[in-house]
Amino acid sequence: MYDFIIIGGGILGMSTAMQLSETFPDRRILLLEKESGAARHQSGRNSGVIHAGVYYAPGSLKARFCREGNRATRAFCEAHGIETRTCGKLLVATSDLELERMQGLWERTAANGLECEWLSAEALAEREPAITGVGALFVPSSGIVDYSRVTRAMAGEFEQRGGQVRFDQEVTAIDERPGEVVVRTRDDEFSTRYLVSCAGLMADRVVRMLGRDPGFIICPFRGEYFRLPEARDGIVNHLVYPIPDPAMPFLGVHLTPMIGGGVTIGPNAVLALAREGYRKSDVSLPDLARMFTHPGVWRMLASNVGPGLAELRNAFSRRRYLSLVRRYCPELTLEDLQPWPAGVRAQAVSRDGRLIDDFLFVNTRRTVNVCNAPSPAATSALPIGRYIVDKVKEQVEVG
Ligand SMILES: Cc1cc2nc3c(=O)[nH]c(=O)nc-3n(C[C@H](O)[C@H](O)[C@H](O)COP(=O)(O)OP(=O)(O)OC[C@H]3O[C@@H](n4cnc5c(N)ncnc54)[C@H](O)[C@@H]3O)c2cc1C
Repeated sequence: MYDFIIIGGGILGMSTAMQLSETFPDRRILLLEKESGAARHQSGRNSGVIHAGVYYAPGSLKARFCREGNRATRAFCEAHGIETRTCGKLLVATSDLELERMQGLWERTAANGLECEWLSAEALAEREPAITGVGALFVPSSGIVDYSRVTRAMAGEFEQRGGQVRFDQEVTAIDERPGEVVVRTRDDEFSTRYLVSCAGLMADRVVRMLGRDPGFIICPFRGEYFRLPEARDGIVNHLVYPIPDPAMPFLGVHLTPMIGGGVTIGPNAVLALAREGYRKSDVSLPDLARMFTHPGVWRMLASNVGPGLAELRNAFSRRRYLSLVRRYCPELTLEDLQPWPAGVRAQAVSRDGRLIDDFLFVNTRRTVNVCNAPSPAATSALPIGRYIVDKVKEQVEVG
């Protein structure tokens, strides 16, 4: 019998495993991951940004964990010899409407306790000669890192403390009983006192395995990127973002320097036709059937027809995609858009069609389940892991 089992070898599962092994050094802890390595889904296919926490509603878990996570991630990386760069982020306004929205963001950065500088068009041009705008916000604490490396370092620390990681173990059934939880995988069975699920794109399915109706469905939103050619590597020194529509703060392709060199453009957000559908042609009929029999998905589509269609058109036209970036980086051309792997976001959608905004956890007597952990969850992985450990501690204390 294990004391704790964690489902999911992404950054949240590994962070939780590492911190559980620190808090409970003598307990038997096992992490189960269905792939043959760590960080094969969201944690290894993202923008690599250490967010500062600009957009999030003051008082939300996102705002709190992102701010804490920004510092904690950098400290963890420093302690583990993982390169990070605190290059800062520019949010660039290109019209009067965006300038108005920039004022809203400026107020939000203050409410979230972030350092932020208001730049005129001239000051922006001085900082970033290739970028044009009528003004910008500069947030110095944003940075970049390779989250796959962070995830692997967490796994290493967990294993050093005696924790076990088993890859190629897809959890297919869970039975929560008095005193234990039985976890079945395709070819094994494990018993544990407590279970934590950090299953990303499969989060709702794990809740169903517990015999609960999750009340939401995970919708997969593919984020497609391009990479600029090597000759453009030095085109920007900062992360460069557009000013988002406050109703859709996660939309808007950005220029992102990568820690290993190079700059990506992206990501967009297109409803994927498979949960782990990284290519446009990936279709899963079972995933589609579940998605389109859920009332929340139809409601979400109905209330986001305009932005949804715009994202779809941009996904199928490189020219349209380019025009989004050329608004603030006019020198880019179609030849600059080189292929780069996509990622898929796990976004929980409620029965009434709302995109659930904040991080969401669903707990039972012996389980803690991460149910909504989109961006900035990679940045927030250390505080989220700490939060989960505290929840598990409360369960252990009850006995
Ligand atoms: C395109 C994109 C860009 C992003 N950019 C950023 C960014 O710049 N900064 C930031 O902070 N965040 C970013 N994010 C968000 C961030 O990457 C995710 O929030 C974070 O990685 C979530 O981690 P996770 O461990 O919950 O999920 P995942 O990394 O998806 O891990 C879940 C794991 O669970 C496993 N699993 C699922 N079901 C089972 C099962 N039944 N049995 C066993 N294993 C199972 C999966 O195989 C997977 O490995 C981005 C996300 C995307 C998609």
